[in-house]
Amino acid sequence: MEKKYLLGNEALAYGLFEGGLEASFAYPGTPSSEITEKLVEISKEENIYIEWSINEKVSYENAYGVSLTGRRSCVIMKHVGLNVASDPFITSVYTGIIGGLVIIVADDPFAYSSQNEQDSRRYWQLAKTVCFEPSSIQESKNIAKFSFEFSEKIGLPVMIRSVTKLSHGKSDVLIGKRQKKISDYGFKKNPSKFVMVPSNARVALKNLNEKQEIIKKEVEKLPFSKFEKGESNIGIVACGLTYSYVKEFVETEKKNSPIFKVSTYPLPEKKLKNFLESVNEIVVFEEGDPVAEEQIYIYSKIYNLKNKIYGKINNFTDKEGELSVDKVEETFYKIRGKKKKYYSFSIPERPPVLCAGCPHLGSFYILKKVFGKDALFPGDIGCYTLGVKLETIDTCLCMGAGISMGSGMSRFEKNNVVSIIGDSTFFHTGIPALINAVYNQANQVICILDNRTTAMTGHQPHPGTGINAKKEKTVEIELKKLISNCGVEDVIEVDPYKIKEAIEKIKGIKDKKGVKVIIFKRECIITSKGKKIQYYIDSKRCKGCKLCLTINCLAMSFKNGKAEIGILCNGCGMCENICPYKAIVKDEKKG
Ligand code: SF4
Ligand code: SF4
Repeated sequence: MEKKYLLGNEALAYGLFEGGLEASFAYPGTPSSEITEKLVEISKEENIYIEWSINEKVSYENAYGVSLTGRRSCVIMKHVGLNVASDPFITSVYTGIIGGLVIIVADDPFAYSSQNEQDSRRYWQLAKTVCFEPSSIQESKNIAKFSFEFSEKIGLPVMIRSVTKLSHGKSDVLIGKRQKKISDYGFKKNPSKFVMVPSNARVALKNLNEKQEIIKKEVEKLPFSKFEKGESNIGIVACGLTYSYVKEFVETEKKNSPIFKVSTYPLPEKKLKNFLESVNEIVVFEEGDPVAEEQIYIYSKIYNLKNKIYGKINNFTDKEGELSVDKVEETFYKIRGKKKKYYSFSIPERPPVLCAGCPHLGSFYILKKVFGKDALFPGDIGCYTLGVKLETIDTCLCMGAGISMGSGMSRFEKNNVVSIIGDSTFFHTGIPALINAVYNQANQVICILDNRTTAMTGHQPHPGTGINAKKEKTVEIELKKLISNCGVEDVIEVDPYKIKEAIEKIKGIKDKKGVKVIIFKRECIITSKGKKIQYYIDSKRCKGCKLCLTINCLAMSFKNGKAEIGILCNGCGMCENICPYKAIVKDEKKG
């Protein structure tokens, strides 16, 4: 065994690797992305197939295909990605799998970088398989390794739920040797098992329901969920990472509470019954929905137990957001009818902003100039969602929805409808929405902000970049050609840094009927190489008109009646492009 200081996501990657993973598929999404990045790094010597797929459904279907050939595969995504992958996921539990198939889903309590806080454990209930929820970074590695074996044992895909703090926390982790490939199985035809026509699906559901008894027995034997005895009459149920908060609270407060640690769903019924019988009152800590709490109510009813239960259902714990040691303590105060004293301090708020020189700033400026403030801007998910502060993003629902919503709006709105989507998101779910808009003759402008990467999640490649997950050269899917082939007649490419030129080009197609596509093509300022250029203001020429400030660049400010450029300048030249008095000048010494 070797000890390494790892991120929770890196520990998951090591666990998958040790467990004999042969193929991994993912779509980038915070807080899950580092798992794939680490797999690329640690699998160099092994022949493991690793892919950034174009969306989570495609990811899942690929991993399932690998599993049917008998190999161990995994699929990795953030919580909302499971909505996209839910179709194949749920039916694959009907058909069952051959090689171990593990689905890792990273939830985001408090929605730090997501459009909602949904709890993926609900999919465990819907799909009727097993969900693991690690309580520490070491356990993340252990469970990821073990999950392949367990998936093969029960013949079903299994799910691992992580949460932001577990994915992004760091600790020492013991890692071991990679398990060797166990079989050279190939796909064996079995239509009654794998072809889900209604007659086969009905049989499959019956089998799956019968399998629930086997699952219950198997889960009971696993070491991950456990009952830790104590003297107190008030017991604590701690799910996943909340176990770490509970342990810290119990140790600091010198409490001797019995603890039931939950790391598997379904909960092990017998172990849980023993715990419930040993206490009078129970507090349940879990992030997300009251999933374990509901199970405890059900078991209490079945076994006619009269424990008093404190949790989300009766408002003793928060229904939203993340838990912490402080929140655990606060709940105990609440149970005793007391108020916890807070020693608060404030830190300045730092709302997220687009980087200085971000090409999206130019795109938004251009769109406002051409379409005016009354245009509707249905938006999408990516860095550019921050355009909401610049009044160039009016909606954000889910990946790809900006185009489809825009099509719907365009049927009833008289103002221009200008949908905004990123390049990676366009490949994710924008393409079918575009085809639908063309086919059903929407009257809409679609803007693809093509910064040549999936920027928000850490600059992962996509089919438009010409490189794959392992940074090897591959086929580059050209957006302009693809869009023309989808039936769009008016598709133009502009450079968001060349503001005047772009405005003129867009004016040329603005009033045409039907679907028009504008590709704003310019590499993300973070990944673009080249020399560090900076600009400065020639104060003699500056008339203080503030026109340059309408770009909303972070590096620009206004002082004593003149514009100023600070050290954050990345030298994009957009502001130089719009100053009518040539007061913005390239710093030749730095350029
Ligand atoms: S050149 Fe102007 S717009 Fe570009 S980063 Fe510098 S200050 Fe910002
Ligand atoms: S646009 Fe030019 S003149 Fe106007 S404030 Fe900016 S630098 Fe000064």
